[in-house]
Amino acid sequence: MREAIDILDARRRQVHTKGSQPFQLDCEKHSVAGSVSQRACVFCGSRVVLYPITDALHLVHGPIGCAAYTWDIRGAQSSGSQLHRMSFSTDLREKDVIYGGEKKCEAALIELIGRYRPKAAFVYATCIVGLIGDDLEAVCRRVTAQTGVETIPVHSEGFAGSKKDGYTAACAALDRLVGTSESPPPDGPSINILGDFNIAGETWIIRDYYERMGVNVISTITGDGRVDDIRRAHQAQLNVVQCSGSMKGLARLMKQKYDIPFVHVSYFGLEDVSKALYDVAEQFNDPAMMQRTTQLVRDEISAVMPQLRRYRDALQGKKAAVYTGGAFKAFSLVRSLRTLGVQTVIAGSQTGNPQDYQQLESLCDDGTVLLDDTNPLELAKFIDQTGADLLIGGVKERPIAYKLGVAFCDHNHERKRCLAGYEGMVNFANEVYSSVCSPVWSLSPRKRHAPPVKRSIGPGPLVTADAGLPLNTKAPQCPTAATVPSAGSDSHACGVCQLKAHCSGLAAQETETA
Ligand code: SF4
Repeated sequence: MREAIDILDARRRQVHTKGSQPFQLDCEKHSVAGSVSQRACVFCGSRVVLYPITDALHLVHGPIGCAAYTWDIRGAQSSGSQLHRMSFSTDLREKDVIYGGEKKCEAALIELIGRYRPKAAFVYATCIVGLIGDDLEAVCRRVTAQTGVETIPVHSEGFAGSKKDGYTAACAALDRLVGTSESPPPDGPSINILGDFNIAGETWIIRDYYERMGVNVISTITGDGRVDDIRRAHQAQLNVVQCSGSMKGLARLMKQKYDIPFVHVSYFGLEDVSKALYDVAEQFNDPAMMQRTTQLVRDEISAVMPQLRRYRDALQGKKAAVYTGGAFKAFSLVRSLRTLGVQTVIAGSQTGNPQDYQQLESLCDDGTVLLDDTNPLELAKFIDQTGADLLIGGVKERPIAYKLGVAFCDHNHERKRCLAGYEGMVNFANEVYSSVCSPVWSLSPRKRHAPPVKRSIGPGPLVTADAGLPLNTKAPQCPTAATVPSAGSDSHACGVCQLKAHCSGLAAQETETA
């Protein structure tokens, strides 16, 4: 296969093999026409960010096809209102394209707001709305005045860029809500969680970590979000931003307007989730909080390491391809796979910037293929060339893996399984193991003559974190437990977390046994 697939000339500078030549990777470019990019449109980017605001009305102003990918396909959960799961569309037709769609949009909003009484309404412009020039600002002003429900246009015309531009449009829409509540701020340290989408309840897990540290969470904007919480998000002392591509825009706006600092974090993998918690604790400069954080990290890592060791025993030496929406998640995946003994041989993203790719390159081993805005044929070519056993991606990458006869792990928003936090790392290991070590791949043409895969992961019952069962092995003692440093100290680094300090030190054991 590899000889049969060539890279388009216009894309050659968006592909780099680490170690082959000095690092250079073009990115942040329009997709090459005809390359069948895996990227999504502007409207999709906006919707990803705003739809998890669960008590708002979301109206797609456009043809019904734009709304076909309903929110229920995704795994984002709500602890209350389920209004966000409804897929409302103005269903623009030929007549509307000729005469304009404003009246239809206004009538739909009045009817829906009257029926559902949402806390706010978002109206998404799609490609055709940009072409015919409907004035959504005017429509939303009239509806807000008539209903008293804040109605916000989202300028997300699909053709006007890529998914990343949709994030910017969503942040601009959110900026209209933030700061519109006068309720009193909470006592004590407080944060907003940005860029976590509560897939399979992940935001609830992360929120629980912060609350155990003694931090108040004012709003979880993009996961199980509430309009009233977003209105008072300006009261927080810190914005904690995951998926920096999607929410850095809002964090920057809030820094400018309200002088709220922000930190970038990731909750995927032991290293990154531990670092996230320590980074937040360091921002508050409170020794007691740092002590609680240290204890939390130590307890959580101790609980999951026995399981992870057993998965690593089975997975050692396997190879993975990683293709994500934003590059930040790719960093976490490379580290998480390394914890499991799996080498990343392909890494790429839809929307990475030059700094992202620089960091990604420094994380990967020599020979790793780095890809920006790739396409199915390139992925197939490099999976074949590198002998990857596993592809980690989203709904658009799944068929590529299965057609090639390689394992697949869904790490996107369609999944229904928690992969964030410490328990999420056990689930991730289980997903990778279950797929890579499935006997079905021995029937695929590329593996028919390969040696059989190791199926056993050692004695004892195997449970996953989300099974709600106790982990089955005695937790190892942290060799550095007695010497965990105080806040701000850099006295010892942990090989699992690669943190400045603080970790429970289980890594030392890991490094010895690797
Ligand atoms: S906004 Fe445009 S690109 Fe996006 S789904 Fe609708 S028609 Fe397609």
